[in-house]
Amino acid sequence: MTTIRVGHLYPDYLNIYADRGNIAVLTRRAAWRGHELEVTPLGVGDAIAPGEHDLYYVGGGQDREQLLVAGDLARKAAALREAVARGTAALAVCGGYQLLGRGYHGFHGEDMPGIGLLPLHTVAGERRMIGDVLIQCELEPGEKRTLAGFENHAGRTHLDPGAEPLGRVLAGFGNDGESGFEGCRAGRVIGTYLHGPLLPRNAWLADWLLAHALAHRLGTDEAPQLEPLPDDLEGKAHQVSAARARSRGGRFAG
Ligand code: GLN
Repeated sequence: MTTIRVGHLYPDYLNIYADRGNIAVLTRRAAWRGHELEVTPLGVGDAIAPGEHDLYYVGGGQDREQLLVAGDLARKAAALREAVARGTAALAVCGGYQLLGRGYHGFHGEDMPGIGLLPLHTVAGERRMIGDVLIQCELEPGEKRTLAGFENHAGRTHLDPGAEPLGRVLAGFGNDGESGFEGCRAGRVIGTYLHGPLLPRNAWLADWLLAHALAHRLGTDEAPQLEPLPDDLEGKAHQVSAARARSRGGRFAG
């Protein structure tokens, strides 16, 4: 049994659409393989010690909540960058995703610093992008998988030239509603607008994150193969969500 150490950033502030449910999925899927997930909340003022966590997780939030944590996150930036450079994995959703870039210019004109872990910046637009979304990813060469979720953001995220998107939009808006890209991936770090929560309906991504967190824990470059799970229910949840995105994904609101 291996203990996988998760640092959950700002669980009290960044948790819309029950993004916390992603942690429940990681916990169960680790336990089914005989591993334990140890989740430490990391709030305002808490120090980060690089190497202490195998996976960082940060959920989504409205501009108001993002403003409350952005300054503190910036103070953690150097430690988080060092941890990631040493192989810690990360998943950031929506508001958390925006703050992993260089910064977010919010709807009311507030400039929030980002921590520069992902090569991108975000500027809020007039109309929110809301709806079901489906994207196609290829995190490992030759392995095409889809992710289904729900997006609700005013921010338009612009990837730097050469940045690797998480996936291509099949239905919905994605990063900015124009580029055809969704999310961003840099090594073991993943940022995405997909809520839902994301992992209950996209079990393969939960396993990808667990495998990379285990690789950090075990000090290996190569992520270990996890024993497959039945996933009938998870597969159905994915299908329902994907079908919804294909039939009605992507409407402007507000
Ligand atoms: N406040 C951000 C935006 O509207 C993120 C919202 C979210 O996390 N759902 O773009």
